[in-house]
Amino acid sequence: MAFLFPCDVCKGDSLYINVGSTHWCVCERCKLKWCIGSRIFWDWEEESEFVWQRNTQILERFRPVGYDGANLAYSLTNGNEGDELPF
Ligand SMILES: [Zn+2]
Repeated sequence: MAFLFPCDVCKGDSLYINVGSTHWCVCERCKLKWCIGSRIFWDWEEESEFVWQRNTQILERFRPVGYDGANLAYSLTNGNEGDELPF
């Protein structure tokens, strides 16, 4: 695990985790998660089903926003406050 992409909302560090070949970032402070993509990095290949199951459980605690940083900013600036996110 590594701290890579800062959260678009609070600009804080996000936690980077993989589920299979798909990369996710989560922000503990905002309780948000966003998908970065898949097969961009290769560290997932060294992880196991066990790690991915644990990471899936982690992701369930977070609210999804967008599919990348650009979409995250988009969904936050265009949605009305309190509206359900379109996911
Ligand atoms: Zn945040």
